[in-house]
Amino acid sequence: MRRLVLKAGREKSLQRRHPWIYTGAVERIEGEPQSGDTVEVRSSQGGFLAWAAYSPQSQICARAWDWREGARIDADFLATRLRRAFARREALTSSGTTSALRLVHGESDGLPGIVVDRFADWLVLQLSSAGAWRWRDDIAALAADITGIANVFERSDADVLALEGMAPRVGEVTSSAAPPHVGIEESGLKFEVDLRHGHKTGFYLDQRDNRALLRSHAQGREVLDCFCYSGGFTVSALAGGAARVTAIDSSKDAIEAARRHLRANELAEERAELLEGDVFALLRKFRDQARKFDVIVLDPPKFAPTAAHAERAARAYKDINLWALKLLRPGGTLFTFSCSGGVSRELFQKIVAGAAIDAGVETRVVRHLNAGVDHPVSLAFPEGEYLKGLLCQVD
Ligand code: SAH
Repeated sequence: MRRLVLKAGREKSLQRRHPWIYTGAVERIEGEPQSGDTVEVRSSQGGFLAWAAYSPQSQICARAWDWREGARIDADFLATRLRRAFARREALTSSGTTSALRLVHGESDGLPGIVVDRFADWLVLQLSSAGAWRWRDDIAALAADITGIANVFERSDADVLALEGMAPRVGEVTSSAAPPHVGIEESGLKFEVDLRHGHKTGFYLDQRDNRALLRSHAQGREVLDCFCYSGGFTVSALAGGAARVTAIDSSKDAIEAARRHLRANELAEERAELLEGDVFALLRKFRDQARKFDVIVLDPPKFAPTAAHAERAARAYKDINLWALKLLRPGGTLFTFSCSGGVSRELFQKIVAGAAIDAGVETRVVRHLNAGVDHPVSLAFPEGEYLKGLLCQVD
């Protein structure tokens, strides 16, 4: 029997259904498990705790699949978990004007290290743990079979993969070749997703609801979209009747994609100013020019991938929030986000509060923002809540 036996007193987190087992909690490994193998996890007293996937290279040396002793980890098990995850989405998203959503959100769907996104008639897999890697062929075949979507592309190139000791894998899993862009609809708006090179699995699906919220705040407003990527917020603001949108991204490809998305949605390009540049520098420049906006979106990249980077990241978050608050007209609105796993919601709110004090503007939170309903967060796995945001209004 392949088995991990935990040190005395280290079973608590697993008993609370947190799926990660750290190397430091393991007393001994029996039966020479290989990468991705299913192991039985027992407490120092010998009691059964869980079935888990073994990741020999990672600090997280195993991820729990199931807590029932009678469970068997096989293709049927995966099929049941996948079906349940897909069914959860069906109940939550039935609008018909959105063809892109996350079907499986890893640990929070009971499938550690496994992400499955749907982009119209393509599925994209992102596998980021040894256990997920081991079951790749079954996961791909089952996902295609259950959804009836035959085209599967793999984007297993997340940064965390290196921590599992695995090289990235990107490409078609099934025989048909992926087109350069897959057309999707989000809340009735058209976007083109580059499955091979796009960020994450191609598109920031997690911001869907927040883009829709911006759309409802945009009528007649002058909007600044910082870190715009392929223009998700920009297109939504213009579709919502924004008088003008200024969008900034440091990537030329992102700005070009944003421009294509304006055209695809027949939005007047003269209402958009797309700037290739550094947000930190341009916010300062706008301040020097005394430019003002009614609505500002700050959706920066992950400044703090882990808690170890939190301090430096805090400085960066504070700077952009401080400058943005100063650029808002009285009564203006700030959509501010952090997708850093290393920055908690509480810390993020403190940073924005500090920025408001330094900016000298009275600021109220009118809504807490998070990822959409297709990115659920298991109560046992708070790490699943990486995206947090605030909708703030200034006096
Ligand atoms: N809001 C986007 C996602 C933003 S992702 C959406 O809804 O789709 C973060 C983006 O920030 C990336 O496109 C990256 O190119 C850009 N970026 C990173 N650092 C930057 C900087 N200093 N200035 C401007 N853009 C930056």
